[in-house]
Amino acid sequence: MTIKPRPGILDIAPYVGGESKAAGANRVIRLASNENPLGPSPAAIAAYEAEKNQLHRYPDGGATELRRAIAEAESLDAANIVCGAGSDELISLLVRAYAGPGDEVLYSEHGFLMYAISAKTVGATPVAAPEANLTADVDGLLARVTERTRLLFLANPNNPTGSYLSESALRRLHKGLPDHVLLVIDAAYAEYVAAPDYPQSAPLVEASDNVVMLRTFSKIHGLAALRLGWGYMPPAVADVLNRVRGPFNVSQAAQAAGIAAVRDRDHVARSVAHNAKWLAWFSAAVAKSGIEALPSAGNFVLLRFPGGKAQAEAVLAATKRQGILLRTMVGYGLPDCLRVTIGTEEDMRATAEALGDALAEAVQ
Ligand SMILES: *Cc1c(COP(=O)(O)O)cnc(C)c1O
Repeated sequence: MTIKPRPGILDIAPYVGGESKAAGANRVIRLASNENPLGPSPAAIAAYEAEKNQLHRYPDGGATELRRAIAEAESLDAANIVCGAGSDELISLLVRAYAGPGDEVLYSEHGFLMYAISAKTVGATPVAAPEANLTADVDGLLARVTERTRLLFLANPNNPTGSYLSESALRRLHKGLPDHVLLVIDAAYAEYVAAPDYPQSAPLVEASDNVVMLRTFSKIHGLAALRLGWGYMPPAVADVLNRVRGPFNVSQAAQAAGIAAVRDRDHVARSVAHNAKWLAWFSAAVAKSGIEALPSAGNFVLLRFPGGKAQAEAVLAATKRQGILLRTMVGYGLPDCLRVTIGTEEDMRATAEALGDALAEAVQ
């Protein structure tokens, strides 16, 4: 007899992160995981280092000071914040707490992969709603809500498409949802967005019983290695997550670094400004080579290749030979695309040049 996991587990295709190594290349430019090219705030590194003499101590299980620092920076109520080991952990805790076999977890067609993976881990059914123009479609999502829908995940802006729902579209989506559906707005890239019609999610959380906002320290704060995320939610949902999470789910070093990071507004502003400048520069540069750069509200850009999947694959391989690591989009159902994180100036100049060369080669 072999020991079997619960139904659905073996249907999961494990999440494959962006590549981080290029064998044989004499430089490596890592643009596959949406990491901050400026790294974390120096104050966050110092706070992390200061924890090294306390490694025998358990962390503060309530992340009290960190929640207070976040609440202060964002003008929120600390009691309604729950921290996690990355927002990935909060996604999986929400799914575990609110869905099970027979339930449905709804998301948008090209949404973040972790939503479907988390649904399968609890035996729930992932349901993808089609998009229009690589953007979440409010009517398409609402049309797929059933009595069995428990959660709706919306990345806003979305990774990997870079598109977002406006304030009015988000309100319409929320209004159309029955009370039994928890709307989870994954705002991992919120800090980068400059568009005036981009909605802040916190007011919607505060005005409803069924909205959660997720945020992360992995992107703008450059602390992906430490695994730190947080959610803002109604008191009843916070109570539920505090029951299902591990008692010490966030390390003390991550808490300390997070406190320093959230207080370093200058570093956040520098990261935002760097991204805006080089996202615009890079998108224009690749367009000159005939590659379509989709509009992006995040710290990455989706490139669509006129020659389709074969060309995208050839370009991915050619850039990798030069030590430039981009992200394949096959797992997201976008095989004719590659996703490029906005890196340093040097990274972006080298990548634009390599893409131009690769495309010229592929055409011959
Ligand atoms: C990167 C990302 C996350 C988060 O990650 P953690 O590192 O687990 O905090 C969450 N959602 C989206 C859409 C992302 O792109």
